[in-house]
Amino acid sequence: MSRKRVLVTGGAGFLGSHLCERLLADGHDVLCVDNFYTGAKDNIALLLDNPHFELMRHDITFPLYVEVDEIYNLACPASPIHYQHDPVQTTKTSVHGAINMLGLAKRTNAKIMQASTSEVYGDPEIHPQPEHYNGNVNPIGPRACYDEGKRCAETLFFDYHRQHGLNIRVARIFNTYGPRMLPNDGRVVSNFIVQALAGTPITLYGDGGQTRSFCYVDDLIEGFIRLMKAPDSLTGPVNLGNPGEFTIRQLAERVLALTGSKSAIETKPLPADDPMQRCPDIGLAKEKLGWTPGVDLDQGLKKTIAYFKNLP
Ligand code: NAD
Ligand code: UDP
Repeated sequence: MSRKRVLVTGGAGFLGSHLCERLLADGHDVLCVDNFYTGAKDNIALLLDNPHFELMRHDITFPLYVEVDEIYNLACPASPIHYQHDPVQTTKTSVHGAINMLGLAKRTNAKIMQASTSEVYGDPEIHPQPEHYNGNVNPIGPRACYDEGKRCAETLFFDYHRQHGLNIRVARIFNTYGPRMLPNDGRVVSNFIVQALAGTPITLYGDGGQTRSFCYVDDLIEGFIRLMKAPDSLTGPVNLGNPGEFTIRQLAERVLALTGSKSAIETKPLPADDPMQRCPDIGLAKEKLGWTPGVDLDQGLKKTIAYFKNLP
């Protein structure tokens, strides 16, 4: 195996920190770039002593001049409360960030992967969602800064590919969870676990009948690595997610059962444009990458609960 110089933007975030760890274990030099908007130094604290790991505080909405062989572009807040906190910055991160990272890939001739999202499907009318489904996104709603930002980033990736011959990969990530989500991240898995462990009410938005499909982080990272290594013709988009689909109420019940918590379930209003169902069709990833997630919801929740229990 040849040692590559790999840039991970958003490398101090939840997924980014797991990816940095995996790339180091695979024998690469890793440059982690992050502005710490939702990332945490604690996520990468154990990597700082590794001579093959380098950390740079930088906002990808500004140009970056480094020499690399591969780029994983993960920088972008992913939790609705965080990406809606400063929506203009969220769109800038997705769009200007993609332009800057694609420009960097063009100059260095690096292979580049975009962390796209199931949000490009919006509130889907097709179920489960295959890659050829063009989505149902409200372009002016509160989620649009993220959804449309990510859609525009995909457009830029494919235009750089067609216009400049860039070697691109686009992964459409479905809800992924695991250790190193922030306790105040705001996403459903971390919220429910933190609430269950604290014995405070579980905040169920709406009637809890909306569905999501939850992928454990290690499975997703394996999908990233396989997609990056795949033949150049496999640009994607490729769905990466666990097709096991659960209502949010079922998730709350699993978390209560696995933590042994006595927390009550308290209903709250459903946020605007909250998608009613979401489940990946992973036929393409199975066929082209030989990838299928191996960690089921209970196994993944147990590992994640153990992580949150051990937090100071
Ligand atoms: P996260 O919020 O934990 O990580 C995002 C990281 O990007 C953070 O470290 C943050 O500080 C950094 N960042 C944000 N804006 C930046 C900027 N302008 N410049 C430099 N760094 C910046 O979220 P995550 O769950 O690790 O998500 C990582 C990527 O995967 C995101 O692009 C997200 O959209 C995508 N994604 C994640 C999921 C999921 O379920 N976890 C699902 C779909 C897509
Ligand atoms: N959700 C909830 N309680 C919470 C946080 C989220 O019921 O404390 C719901 C939310 O309304 C959505 C689902 O859980 O239907 C997943 O939300 P999350 O923010 O994790 O991700 P996304 O909506 O982007 O898939």
